[in-house]
Amino acid sequence: MSHPYPHLFQPLDLGSTHLPNRIVMGSMHTLLEETDDGFNKTGAFFAERARNGVALMVTGGVGPNQQGRLADDEHTLEHPDQVPNHQLITKAVHDAGGKILMQILHPGRYGQHDKLVAPSAIRAPINKRVPRELASNEIEQTIEDFVNCSLLAQQAKYDGVEIMGSEGYLINQFLAPCTNKRSDQWGGSAENRMRLAIEIITRTRAAVGEDFILMYRISLLDLVEGGSSWADTVALAQALEKAGVTIFNSGIGWHESRIPTIAHSVPAAAWTWASGKLRREISIPIIATNRINTPEQGETVLANGDADMVSMARPFLADPAFVSKAQNNQADAINTCIGCNQACLDLIFRHQLCSCMVNPRACRETEIDLSPAAIPKKVAVVGGGPAGLSCALSAAERGHEVTLYEAADRLGGQFNMAAIIPGKSDYAHTVRYFSHQLEQLNVTLSLGAPVTAEELQQQHFDEIVIATGVTPRTPEIPGLDHPKVINYQQLLQQQPVLGKRIAIIGAGGIGMDVAEYLAAPAEPVDSTESLRSFMDYWGVDQNFSNPGALKEPTPMPEQRAIFLCQRQPGLPGKGVGLTTAWAHRLTLQKRGVQFLAEVEYLKIDDQGLTIRVDGQQQLLEVDHVVNCAGQESRNDLVNELAALRINCHTIGGAKDADKLNAVRAIREGSEVGLAL
Ligand code: NAP
Ligand code: SF4
Repeated sequence: MSHPYPHLFQPLDLGSTHLPNRIVMGSMHTLLEETDDGFNKTGAFFAERARNGVALMVTGGVGPNQQGRLADDEHTLEHPDQVPNHQLITKAVHDAGGKILMQILHPGRYGQHDKLVAPSAIRAPINKRVPRELASNEIEQTIEDFVNCSLLAQQAKYDGVEIMGSEGYLINQFLAPCTNKRSDQWGGSAENRMRLAIEIITRTRAAVGEDFILMYRISLLDLVEGGSSWADTVALAQALEKAGVTIFNSGIGWHESRIPTIAHSVPAAAWTWASGKLRREISIPIIATNRINTPEQGETVLANGDADMVSMARPFLADPAFVSKAQNNQADAINTCIGCNQACLDLIFRHQLCSCMVNPRACRETEIDLSPAAIPKKVAVVGGGPAGLSCALSAAERGHEVTLYEAADRLGGQFNMAAIIPGKSDYAHTVRYFSHQLEQLNVTLSLGAPVTAEELQQQHFDEIVIATGVTPRTPEIPGLDHPKVINYQQLLQQQPVLGKRIAIIGAGGIGMDVAEYLAAPAEPVDSTESLRSFMDYWGVDQNFSNPGALKEPTPMPEQRAIFLCQRQPGLPGKGVGLTTAWAHRLTLQKRGVQFLAEVEYLKIDDQGLTIRVDGQQQLLEVDHVVNCAGQESRNDLVNELAALRINCHTIGGAKDADKLNAVRAIREGSEVGLAL
């Protein structure tokens, strides 16, 4: 039988470096290096992925000098005495059969420290600090610092470096007219603006010789006003190729852009048309990136001729064995990244160690013990939502004999509801992955009826874990029993047709999701239409008529009048996700959803929902009211077992509904499952 991913598993030679496949693990900032014994831990993190067949990996960004640090406590590579630490990483990767590049990233005006510099003293909209304009001798020094950093990376035995030229960092700031207002040889004309990038590559190539890989991450789309034009980008790519770049990686959108580029609402492989467009203008390989999270998508990108390699970053947090599973035609066994950002980027932006919602072991490879349990036990896990699935799998992986009970007729719990929210269909992958793995490990499933304490008692389990989840809270609002009121579980499980005017009580994660579900048009018919609507609604100009590839967004059609209400002041969706909530809110605003804060709920009756805001009573004349006012633990079984003098562990929403989120639920499931 022919291989399902022939393009992905075709070898590629980059100069003298032979790569066995076309899969790159893209740069991710994990903060692992900053932890105790961080370089060894980082080595273990990369080595596990290398052992599983990733062809080429790129480290998180390393600053070339003090001004070029991301933040005060983040490291640079400037001195020979810093080389031994990096050798811990390269040795671990090479021993595991992999290849690794070190990314050199100078943040320019995105720096989170007081020495930040830029081509011009213009503050970034996402940074409180104003950068200092670099003097021209300092620009010369910065180029030398990039060269020095590359040479030190070569001494540390990296296979090459990636020069970060995209996402709005320093080199990109020099390229774009909106951030480069200089009138010397480093600003003004396109030729002057691209001088920094070209000088860095020319001088680095001269210093490191021919065999060292120079990857350059080029900004294909800036997605900001006053960004680069397509003609400038092509001219830059061709000049960089001549200057000595081995391979291009793609960058999409600056960090300050108000267009989502990697959130789960972005269609799969949404940006690969841009790498395909540049590929036709150059003769060296180019890598496609962003929102590629399955082998099928990677294969399609390569088969369509949109790139020579595909880069994935977060998918390697979710599953270190992504490549070996794809190679062995076991795609169902891949733990797929669902683009939530909740345990990776959201933590990194809070300066906390990165991990992964669906794989809590990510970045804890040296700490989490997967060795077989000394004494295999007979284990019951009650509840087949995210916490129960994770617990059952971890316990089974350690060799315990596990029975998983689920009252519904299928596994997945709240993730089955999440998967029907527009843009969240990837959540179904998590249910598929856990179900598949449980089957492989012969976990016994009991579906379709709630298990009782007596039934559990009769089975004489050694350990019982309760993961029965949550039930919607019933707030004390007069008329909450009116037929026009429905709770979010009834809405998402039964999917009744609701009226044209709807009020939502509660604007947390679920209220926001429900608003998105109710405001969305019928699903686009196919992926081409889905991609076109995404680009139109967010104002991305695929023809590059304007610099930065922006155009006037097409208004999103309003399906309904929706009022999203909360009692607290401020914006809805507080705590939903540092790196995704803004895009959620913008989508809802574009769809005409009205946000109401500091709301007092007075009553619900035939007329609608009566509220008081700012001392003023008003009637929201709505056909339906959806209750999204949070959760209460569903844990009666704990007390019933206690009455029978049976101890149990409680995890996830059943343990604490107030601080529930899927990251905590899956992590707790895994911790308890591994500790049995
Ligand atoms: P939540 O985030 O705690 O929100 C509950 C909402 O109900 C709040 O807006 C709260 O705001 C309101 N509320 C609470 N008690 C109320 C009462 N007695 N009367 C009226 N309103 C009341 O909980 P959730 O939305 O149910 O979400 C559950 C968990 O899943 C959360 O951790 C959430 O972050 C997570 N989740 C995350 C996402 C995501 O995309 N990241 C999506 C879905 C769910 P006021 O008190 O201001 O009214
Ligand atoms: Fe992907 Fe979410 Fe894991 Fe990040 S936390 S790697 S986005 S699944």
